[in-house]
Parts: sequence; C-alpha cells; structure tokens
Amino acid sequence: MGRRWVFLIGLVGAVWLLGSGHGGQQPPVTAAQRCFCQVSGYLDDCTCDVETIDRFNNYRLFPRLQKLLESDYFRYYKVNLKRPCPFWNDISQCGRRDCAVRPCQSDEVPDGIKSASYKYSEVANNLIEECEQAERLGAVDESLSEETQKAVLQWTKHDDSSDNFCEADDIQSPDAEYVDLLLNPERYTGYKGPDAWKIWNVIYEENCFKPQTIKRPLSPLASGQGKSEENTFYSWLEGLCVEKRAFYRLISGLHASINVHLSARYLLQETWLEKKWGHNITEFQQRFDGILTEGEGPRRLKNLYFLYLIELRALSKVVPFFERPDFQLFTGNKVHDAEKKMLLLEILHEIKSFPLHFDENSFFAGDKKEANKLKEDFRLHFRNISRIMDCVGCFKCRLWGKLQIQGLGTALKILFSEKLIANMPESGPSYEFHLTRQEIVSLFNAFGRISTSVKELENFRNLLQNIH
Ligand code: FAD
Repeated sequence: MGRRWVFLIGLVGAVWLLGSGHGGQQPPVTAAQRCFCQVSGYLDDCTCDVETIDRFNNYRLFPRLQKLLESDYFRYYKVNLKRPCPFWNDISQCGRRDCAVRPCQSDEVPDGIKSASYKYSEVANNLIEECEQAERLGAVDESLSEETQKAVLQWTKHDDSSDNFCEADDIQSPDAEYVDLLLNPERYTGYKGPDAWKIWNVIYEENCFKPQTIKRPLSPLASGQGKSEENTFYSWLEGLCVEKRAFYRLISGLHASINVHLSARYLLQETWLEKKWGHNITEFQQRFDGILTEGEGPRRLKNLYFLYLIELRALSKVVPFFERPDFQLFTGNKVHDAEKKMLLLEILHEIKSFPLHFDENSFFAGDKKEANKLKEDFRLHFRNISRIMDCVGCFKCRLWGKLQIQGLGTALKILFSEKLIANMPESGPSYEFHLTRQEIVSLFNAFGRISTSVKELENFRNLLQNIH
C-alpha cells in the first residue's frame, strides 16, 4: 500500500514537473515544488506520511523540545575533540574561525553535572563511588551490599557491552572537556571540498554495506559516474534487505540534516562589528532541488524523515526508563531538576501518542542466527562511523558529528533492547539496561537537530513559495 502511494505520488510529481515545461498550459512550477513536491506522501518502508510528521513535529513537539534542550542538564556535553584520527594522518585542521569550539571554563558547568559526569542519577553516582572505593581497596569489599555489588558488576559489563553502537569517548581523559552546546551552535562553518568529501565518501563507501563495484551517484570524488551506474546503485539499494537499506538511509538522513542546518544558518554577511546568519535559499536549492540534483535532493529529504521516525520510535520505547521514580535529570538544583523531569515526561508522552510509529519489529525478524549476524554487522559498521568522526578536520563539525552519531547509536541501542526495557523493575537499580548521562544528552540533542531540520524545511518551503 505504502509503496504504491509513493509510486503514484512520485509519478504525479514527475508528470507535473515535465508537463509544466511546455506551452504555459499548466501553472508554473514554483521553486518550492521543485524541492518538495516529491517529498510528500508515504515514506518507503514505513506506514507514515510526511505531512503527518510535519504537523506533529512543528506544532506539538518542536517548541517544547527546544525548551528542554536549553536546560542545564542538556546544554553541557562532555567530549574529547583531541582524539587522533585512527585511519589517516593528513588531517588538515581547517583554520576557519567558524570551526572553533569554545570549551567551558570549569566554573561555568553546574557542580552537580561535573560530579555526575558518568552516571545519570544521584543513586547511580553513589553506587559508582562505592565501586571505585572498593577498587582502591583492591579486594572484594564485603561491606558493599549484595545489591550494590550486583549493580556494579552489571554496569561494568554494560559499559563494554556489545549493545553499544558507538565507540564512546573516554570522557575521563584529561583531553575531554565540557562544551556548552547553546554557545556553539551547529551552522555553516565553511568546511567543504575534498576534506569533507573524503569523510562522507569513507562513510558511504566503506560502511554502508555496499558492494565494492558500485559507485554512488553524483559523488564528487567518484570518477566515471553516469546514468547507468546511478541505476545500478538504486537497483542494488532496492535489492538489499530492509535492515541494510535502513542503514544507508539513516546516514543519508543525517547528512541531509547537517546540510539543511548549514543552509538555514548560513553566514550571510560579515562586518568587523557583527556577523549575520540566516537562510541561504540558493545553498538549499543546490543541495535539494529535484532538477538541480537529478532527483537526488528529494530522496535525501525523505531519508531525513526516515531518520526522524527511527529516533522518534526509540524515544517512545524508552519511556519506562525515564518514568522510574529514582531517575533524575541531576544538576544539583532539586526544584529545577524536578521541573525539567516533568517537561521531559510530557514530551515523551506526546511522542508515545504519535499515531504512525515506525514498526521496528520487521527488523532482524528473520532466522535468529542470520538476524544476530546482521545486528552485529550493523553495530560494527556504526562503531566504525563513530571513529571516523575523529577525522573531521573542523572542530565544530566534529563536535556535532560526534554528538549526532552517539545520539543515533543510543537510539539503535534502545530499539534493540526492547525486552530489557520491558523487564526493568519499576524502582531500584536497573541491572540490565541503563543509559549514561552522555547517552541521554546526545540522544535528545540529536533528535533536537532532526526536529529542527524538519521545522526548517517548513521555513524553506515558505521562502521558496514565491520563487519561480
Ligand atoms: P557534500 O555534502 O560534501 O556531499 C558529498 C557528496 O555526497 C555529494 O556530492 C552527493 O553526491 C552526496 N550526498 C550529498 N548529500 C547526500 C545525502 N543526504 N545522502 C546521500 N548522499 C549525499 N559544514 C558546515 O558548514 N557546518 C557543519 O556543521 C558541518 N558538519 C559536518 C559534519 C560532518 C561529519 C561532515 C563530514 C561534514 C560537515 N560539514 C559541515 C560539511 C558539509 O556536510 C558538506 O560536506 C560541505 O558543505 C560540502 O558540500 P557539498 O555540496 O560539496 O557536498
């Protein structure tokens, strides 16, 4: 049903586009239609349509999510931007001012967050402290309660567990620093050309389950590209199992989201006094206009919606974890923390009420052995991508790239831990499933980025409305 709709809508869109070029019989095609007319209706592999997402996101979710992300708990993210690139040596650190990241001075970060840097709640912190104390004593400390010993054991196991989709930064390293995300917004930095292409190319070429012989279309680094290769690429994508196709679409959706942001917060004017940031319509069209990109742009925007649905689904699944009474958004300010937890739960219940959630049950649903192998492949590819982020030559892009990959990795971890979440006790320590503060902050901020992109698409649609 979904596919037939997409096909029909695509066909109508194509006929509309072709027809409008002849003789003035049809109303002229607006610039908005050239970017958006194929981005409507049902999404491939999903039962949801773009218009439902737009309405839900732009009016119900986006404003509240922004408010949450401005709070202390979510605005400070600890990150190690100095980790060496594990794949090649010749990273040119782009010297542009807009690539710089200003880390926080230690007195800027609330004490509660600094002391709770690893774990999410006061209870968790106490357990970790007990654990560290036990380690210092160098022996099994009989004074630790049985419950604490069990939790500590489980958490150590958890931290190197195969459930993690990302190579997490060592946030205890002296090189890891807190960054205020509100003061270092994701926007146009001027990072482009061969250095940026190399990163995207390595991500797609080596990590998206693609056979060596098939080149991606329109890649500026791919030589000898042409229509036939483009067709081979898409028939290959069509022939893939739903999970592998999903992997490519998630990465492409993230790529599209980054490029929407840089077009929406573009450096429009610079004087010695100030910089003016805003929407750059031409930049947006070059990346997403159906004709200028030979149909690629609208496909990429659809991938962005697909990514949105996946992260939305993960958030809806993890509600029981956040509902537990001993979960806190711990910053040390009790009143403020309680208010923010209420807002967080309000948002999560709104998300849960979304009527057309992605059905992840079709994922890894086949033969168990085959499914486990696929899940492991998925995880390894994803961890590889998180390591590639250390090769991004622009620190601002590296910061947001790392955060968004960690956030997406956390979303996947949630989707693949459904049973563990369902079996969590309603109170007391959760042995089998937990999220670190880093994972929580990255999960919500990554989703905040995609939610902002969807909202920005509405802004671009309005701006393009009157351009022919
Ligand atoms: P690119 O976006 O570099 O794309 C390369 C090729 O990939 C394109 O020619 C096309 O064939 C293909 N492609 C493009 N989009 C998609 C898609 N959605 N799906 C599938 N294939 C696609 N720049 C900033 O200004 N601010 C940032 O915050 C920022 N963050 C970045 C983070 C990372 C991790 C990386 C790797 C780059 C980042 N950049 C950022 C750079 C930005 O993404 C572009 O690489 C840059 O603007 C050059 O764009 P381009 O038009 O040459 O094509």
